[in-house]
Amino acid sequence: MLKNYVVFIGILLCSQPVAAKWFKNSFKVMGTQAHLQFWLDDNSVDSQQKSHQLIAAVQAEMQRIDEAMSPYKATSELSLINTQAAQKPLVISAELFQLLQISEKISQLSQGAFDITYASIGYQYDYRQKQRPNKTAIKKALSAIDHSAVQLNEQKSTVFFSHKNVKIDLGGIAKGYAVKRCLAILKAAGIKHALVNAGGDTGLLGDRHGRPWYVGIKHPRAEDKMAVELPLINEAISTSGDYERYFIEDGVRYHHIINPQTGDSARKVVSVSIIGKDPTYVDALSTTIFVKGLAAGMKLIDSLPEFEAIIIDNEQTLHVSKGLRQQ
Ligand code: ADP
Ligand code: MG
Repeated sequence: MLKNYVVFIGILLCSQPVAAKWFKNSFKVMGTQAHLQFWLDDNSVDSQQKSHQLIAAVQAEMQRIDEAMSPYKATSELSLINTQAAQKPLVISAELFQLLQISEKISQLSQGAFDITYASIGYQYDYRQKQRPNKTAIKKALSAIDHSAVQLNEQKSTVFFSHKNVKIDLGGIAKGYAVKRCLAILKAAGIKHALVNAGGDTGLLGDRHGRPWYVGIKHPRAEDKMAVELPLINEAISTSGDYERYFIEDGVRYHHIINPQTGDSARKVVSVSIIGKDPTYVDALSTTIFVKGLAAGMKLIDSLPEFEAIIIDNEQTLHVSKGLRQQ
């Protein structure tokens, strides 16, 4: 498999001098580093001004989404849902409602591998402090990991938790959604070539002015090394890895992607990247396929023609979905 795919692996991104008409910006948001790059057709004072406006608009949009969806901010709409939705149906924004609907759709598609109620136990993990729930705590919380307990009423735009201990977290989908929104802002402003990245999520508008974008997938066990560089045009790609937020205890890796069935970290593979058009879906699907593992994960992706996958297993072998295999 690795051999068949040598065309991707062999390509290394040469560092190119930054053309004057590329505008770039990096900033911290949603607990990660975000990057933005776009092309403006001329380099006049007007376009300098436009670039500043666009950068500000993208930053503001990511911050707005962070304010609404962060589980760490007590005032976020997500936190309000977590403290109030078990008492009575709570009216929520159309935006949150739509993301909860997509989350439910992917839970159903994946037979529960993607489940935002993983947070019912997830909040007891603290990777920086090397803290994790013990077996008793996990056992107690497992009944609250159940996406069907998140009851949505579309007419009323309400959410209700039918189990009192349910907590939700959109960490597996919100960054992809933020990337999608920012690309829409750039597109509406007439931009034709752009890259928006937030952590493991990247969305692309068009190509890199006459050549493809090259998006790297990190080597899962060698920091600052790439496993693969992919030439992409007008696509989104999301990578979920067990090396972003983790600690190791007694030789066991505890990391931020949780198997909803066990309440423990998913350990069937070490990295999953999903490629497709919609940044929201590729984000959620990378987390989903990570939980499902190689065989079941590839089977699911191969059943979805709009998405492709690159999976690195525990032996660090790279596997690609049907659409990426060379004839
Ligand atoms: P990253 O946040 O590093 O980009 P992912 O896209 O893989 O990585 O998302 C991981 C996040 O998804 C976790 O930090 C957590 O918030 C959330 N999550 C973990 N397990 C699940 C799961 N089984 N279903 C849905 N979301 C999950
Ligand atoms: Mg994801």
